[in-house]
Amino acid sequence: MEFEMLKPPEEGRKIEYVDGRLIVPDNPVIPFIEGDGIGRDVVPAALKVLSAAAEKIGKEIVWFEIYAGEKAYKLYGSYLPEDTLNAIREYRIAIKGPLTTPVGGGYRSLNVTIRQTLDLYACVRPVYYIEGVPSPLKNPEKVNVVIFRENTEDVYAGIEWPRGSEEAKKLIEFLSTLGVKVREDSGIGIKPISEFATKRLVRLAIRYAIENGRKSVTLVHKGNIMKYTEGAFRDWGYEVAREEFADVTITEEELWEKYDGKADGKIVIKDRIADNMFQQLLTRTAEYDVLAMPNLNGDYMSDFAAGLVGGLGIAPGSNIGDGMGVFEPVHGSAPKYAGQNKVNPTAEILSGALMFEYLGWKDGAEMIKKAVEMTIKSGTVTYDIHRHVGGNLVGTREFAEAVVENLQSL
Ligand code: NAP
Repeated sequence: MEFEMLKPPEEGRKIEYVDGRLIVPDNPVIPFIEGDGIGRDVVPAALKVLSAAAEKIGKEIVWFEIYAGEKAYKLYGSYLPEDTLNAIREYRIAIKGPLTTPVGGGYRSLNVTIRQTLDLYACVRPVYYIEGVPSPLKNPEKVNVVIFRENTEDVYAGIEWPRGSEEAKKLIEFLSTLGVKVREDSGIGIKPISEFATKRLVRLAIRYAIENGRKSVTLVHKGNIMKYTEGAFRDWGYEVAREEFADVTITEEELWEKYDGKADGKIVIKDRIADNMFQQLLTRTAEYDVLAMPNLNGDYMSDFAAGLVGGLGIAPGSNIGDGMGVFEPVHGSAPKYAGQNKVNPTAEILSGALMFEYLGWKDGAEMIKKAVEMTIKSGTVTYDIHRHVGGNLVGTREFAEAVVENLQSL
């Protein structure tokens, strides 16, 4: 692969994808994007922890910096150069920091573009409680969900035109021929949700539930109002369970009608209307496990769920396609804290743990999680946790150093 400006490292080997499986060498080259704002704080801190964890399990990660956001603009005159997308295609796995997206104008979200261009169709975000992290819940340990958010469709895909544009006018005219009246001064956004994208997302969620001994998969939708998009998401979700996983799944209805409330090791497929789901997660927390939902619901639900266990500083995420993954925290670039060595790198570090799991380095992933937990439990914390419970206040770098130290003691 020829790059315009990037120089891949000479050491290390490429991760390959053969017959639907990742082949991971002991010294993989892994591209990283520092990102904007606090990316420059959390990414270098996280890479240190991940390198130390790799070493601990007899591996070596050869980091390869690639560019997006402000840093890319300075180098290439483009916020998301082809080089960057090609490097992810070529090396299959990348870890990134957050990227800033202007509101109400300017360029389109780089995150959305990366997810769509590389067809990283599932945004997977586990949310669970870490001891020592302050939470607004009485029993935060009951939170243990994995959110599977569809990543390529919905109003979130960015198919939209501003008020007064030619495209908006044409669509308004066209809609009037269908008997639909839309005010002339409207901006227009389109919400596509397909059977193909829904089924591959729900398929991945059910497979995850099977492989990780989870109890249920809940389809979260607003199908009572948006029947042919969100309602169809629900129907296609049940269909994929019935058609492809009949031997290991039952619906919630069957659970009560046929099985007397005993799932007997089968995964229960249920569905909830999105607004209800928010309160369910608060009031009946332990009843929820794997959640699968369209893009916009998933966006809201991820931050909400992260808030239940202590906020954005600790919530990791991943964008998964077939044999390809880009790992990133749920949080954004928090520009007001950029470069202050202040924010919590836990979300970025735990995104790296998800990357380890995806690479099949499960023991390394466990060690990273354990070392983070030990650090927080010992009271060594960044400002976001310190402001609620006090303790030994440290900066981003120092927190990561403490995690490395704990890792080495394991
Ligand atoms: P944000 O950057 O996530 O920050 C919101 C607040 O969350 C911060 O002010 C801070 O709260 C807390 N926070 C975030 N990261 C933290 C960390 N590592 N440690 C401790 N606290 C943390 O959200 P935003 O201000 O709405 O968005 C800023 C920019 O990021 C926007 O341009 C947005 O589009 C972009 N964004 C990018 C991504 C991505 O790259 N995937 C995701 C989301 C948003 P306190 O102020 O209470 O301390």
